[in-house]
Amino acid sequence: MATDERSVFSRIIAGEIPADVVHDSERIIAFRDIAPKAPVHILVVPKTESYRDVVELAAGDPALLAEVVATAQTLAAEHSNGEFRLVFNTGASAGQTVYHVHAHLLSGHLEEGTLAH
Ligand code: AMP
Repeated sequence: MATDERSVFSRIIAGEIPADVVHDSERIIAFRDIAPKAPVHILVVPKTESYRDVVELAAGDPALLAEVVATAQTLAAEHSNGEFRLVFNTGASAGQTVYHVHAHLLSGHLEEGTLAH
């Protein structure tokens, strides 16, 4: 795949551009969002390029989706109080801008009544 067709997350996973990485395991990387919308805002990203969004991931590799959730819980405990919101923007009108499946882990005194990140 040509470099310009790969997502920014693929380039972070490959080490081609820097990120504030907080977790790096065999199948998942997590790093701080460059434009945080909460006191703790971490992106939990499967390393595979096979899935564009959470619907594809759930259908194709539900165990990996479960690993994303478990990783988010661990990171919420490490970086906040263990309570968190997990957001998967799915489609452009829902705010998705990077088509490499990822979860937004949001934690730390989130405003009530707002689901948007
Ligand atoms: P989404 O809009 O759900 O596709 O989420 C993409 C997220 O990636 C946004 O919240 C961006 O702020 C974040 N983002 C884009 N580029 C980078 C980067 N180089 N490092 C960290 N986060 C990034």
